[in-house]
Amino acid sequence: MSRKPIIAGNWKMFKTVSEAASFFADVKGKAEVDGVESVICAPFTALPSLVEAAKGTTIAIGAQNLHFEDNGAFTGEISGVMLKDLGVKYVIIGHSERRAYFAETDEIVSKKVHAAFKNDLTPIVCVGEKLEEREAGETKNVCSVQTVAAFQGLSASQAAEVVVAYEPIWAIGTGKSSTSEDAQDVIGYIRSVIAGLYDDATAAAVRIQYGGSVKPNNVAEYMGQQDIDGALVGGASLEPASYIALIEGAK
Ligand code: PEP
Repeated sequence: MSRKPIIAGNWKMFKTVSEAASFFADVKGKAEVDGVESVICAPFTALPSLVEAAKGTTIAIGAQNLHFEDNGAFTGEISGVMLKDLGVKYVIIGHSERRAYFAETDEIVSKKVHAAFKNDLTPIVCVGEKLEEREAGETKNVCSVQTVAAFQGLSASQAAEVVVAYEPIWAIGTGKSSTSEDAQDVIGYIRSVIAGLYDDATAAAVRIQYGGSVKPNNVAEYMGQQDIDGALVGGASLEPASYIALIEGAK
């Protein structure tokens, strides 16, 4: 089963509308490489103009969160219906920053994954252990629990569409990346958990990214591992040249 590599930039709370437009103008045509899917996950405010700018390109636009209800009295929230209406294709769900700072639980993550599918959005579901969990030998257990929760109630065909991002929390934004061998070990394990939930063919179809201080100079090393299908990248996705180099490096 060949899985198309996917590099997704997670801009977090960076870039105004005009900064996003300038970035896109710089990467257009260059961050479009045969055989690699290129995704930019931007703040909500930049999504309408980015979706417009991305028309006719192979770059997909993603959000970084959604609410699990379609609409309602949820002040400040954005729903899957709204993202679909904009033409957004991907949505990050359960990023560790949302789990840590916005009390996002496995149950909420599951509801959001269902809301994504209901609105034709592809979820990029983040799982990963804290430093103390790693030191206690709990990495695989934590990833298994989070993965099982995220796939709860999905059909095999939906499951095959999910993108999982394995992001050891101690490696996010710290410059301390996991070795590619360690990342492969955990990602291979996550794939085996998915096989246990469904079957080997479904697990073989799921794309699993590594995330955590991925840079242009180490992306190829991760891509060389058999179960690693791309990267979710924060800091190094913010500069056009670096983003282009990440896409090039994933070929
Ligand atoms: C992230 O935002 O998911 C991430 C992995 O950030 P960074 O690449 O900066 O570590």
